[in-house]
Amino acid sequence: MYPEDSRERWFRGQGHWSGVPAEQWGDWRWQMRNRITRLEELEERMELTPEEREGCLFARSKLSLAITPYFFNLMNLEDPGCPIRRQIVPRSEEMQVSPEELLDPVGEESSMGVDGLVHRYPDRCLFLVTNVCAAYCRYCTRSRLVSNAQGYDFHPNFENALKYIEEHTEIRDVLLSGGDPLLLSDKKLDFLLGRLRAIKHVEFIRIGSRIPVFMPQRVTPELQDIFRKHGPVWMSIHVNHPRECTEELYEATEKLTMAGVPLGNQSVLLKGVNDDVDTMTSLVHRLLMMRVRPYYLYQCDLITGSRHLRADVSKGIEIIKALRGHSTGYAVPQFVIDAPGGGGKIPINPEYVTEMNENEIVMRNFEGKEFRYPLQDGNLLAPVGEGLPQQEEVLV
Ligand SMILES: *Cc1c(COP(=O)(O)O)cnc(C)c1O
Ligand code: SF4
Repeated sequence: MYPEDSRERWFRGQGHWSGVPAEQWGDWRWQMRNRITRLEELEERMELTPEEREGCLFARSKLSLAITPYFFNLMNLEDPGCPIRRQIVPRSEEMQVSPEELLDPVGEESSMGVDGLVHRYPDRCLFLVTNVCAAYCRYCTRSRLVSNAQGYDFHPNFENALKYIEEHTEIRDVLLSGGDPLLLSDKKLDFLLGRLRAIKHVEFIRIGSRIPVFMPQRVTPELQDIFRKHGPVWMSIHVNHPRECTEELYEATEKLTMAGVPLGNQSVLLKGVNDDVDTMTSLVHRLLMMRVRPYYLYQCDLITGSRHLRADVSKGIEIIKALRGHSTGYAVPQFVIDAPGGGGKIPINPEYVTEMNENEIVMRNFEGKEFRYPLQDGNLLAPVGEGLPQQEEVLV
């Protein structure tokens, strides 16, 4: 265990906003109203580097700047390389577009059944229900539409999308995303989940949300009631760094699980944020302590202006190799690349199989030791004398 992983060391409290009445601090609408969204507001609270300053000006036409007071507290204001700061404070590198980068890096636009509904896999679909988030991740795959800084003008039409799902009886799994679905009002969320539940062939409903991480105050008793009413609803949260595991997030995930919501986590592998074994190990251990199962670790998509945040694929493989066998199996996420151009998520695994022929599979365990296992066709079923002894011979 890393010393900071002890629950006593997890961040808690109002930090720079200690003067605000606890009731306001704990109200998600207060958090939304008091977000830092302008360069001047950010500069009142911290000293920016020239690169960050320039990045904030550029953000207006790329992906808006927004940071909740709760999440701001997790930044180290003295350290421009702070892993929380790198995720959320714009930098001038976002202006540099590399040749491999794309506006729609995973080809979502070409798989839209109707506006806002991506139907790429046969049995499930991605339903984009809003274009706003509580705060904006600088590497967001959907920066083309999220926050509307690029003038995408996204207006999800719930009725059209619901009609599409109703008509496509092969869809058994609906994933609500955006933007962040938990920014919908309780009333809208209740309505949407109710409508989806009423579709007979939809057997699995899940929500992708970073709200518990940006604004755990959103997890209210009323929200718990909605999940209890329409459950089972699964949720994937998005935690990238162990410092994001705070006492407040712990309480929010506890409330969600108590309302019957199974929780997974999706992390993005980010350079200078979590692209090392120690950070990732600490993160997945803290997630398990919070009842959250690490689900995916994503290679960062080729979004425009993301080069400074994209870690090498080899780093991801190294991390998975360091986790598998060395830690709880539940702690190991699946490392994936969402294939550019719309191929979907492809698992990337360390090589454990060194050879496979008609007789056996040769493999290495987590310590690098070699093991062999016989293969059925060539061996177990082979006639006596040629393969393994038959059972009677063994018994004799
Ligand atoms: C990620 C994704 C899903 C869900 O995929 P799972 O592997 O089932 O989590 C569905 N549709 C689209 C378009 C996606 O990008
Ligand atoms: S919360 Fe998700 S959709 Fe919103 S900015 Fe971050 S990555 Fe993008």
